Amino acid sequence: MEIITNISYILKDPLVQFFLWMAVLHIIGQVFVDKKISFWIASVATTFLWYKYRDPYTPAYAWGIIVGFILLAYILKIVFHFNIFLFLKGRKRCPKCYEEAHLRAKVCPFCGHVFSEKDDLKEGD
Ligand SMILES: [Zn+2]
Repeated sequence: MEIITNISYILKDPLVQFFLWMAVLHIIGQVFVDKKISFWIASVATTFLWYKYRDPYTPAYAWGIIVGFILLAYILKIVFHFNIFLFLKGRKRCPKCYEEAHLRAKVCPFCGHVFSEKDDLKEGD
């Protein structure tokens, strides 16, 4: 019972509701429209509807989190040459042909480049 109480408490948070709405619209957009633009459809639609019918502060706070995460990903990419989006997909970038190979691959399946230890987790320059 305590878990249900905790979940219902979390679901009352408008920020959590905002991201849930965005996730649902994102899934609907992926199914019925297009994978590449569904994030933008979901985020713009949720922000607009929230701003119009709920409060203007939750979208601003949520966008702060989204922009913060994107900035963090870019800082990791620029400073450490680490691509978190590729890492979350379990892939790495081949420095020779720039194709995505499996994170644990020893040899690039596209061009035959032999990965060294430092190629792992590193974005090809
Ligand atoms: Zn390659």
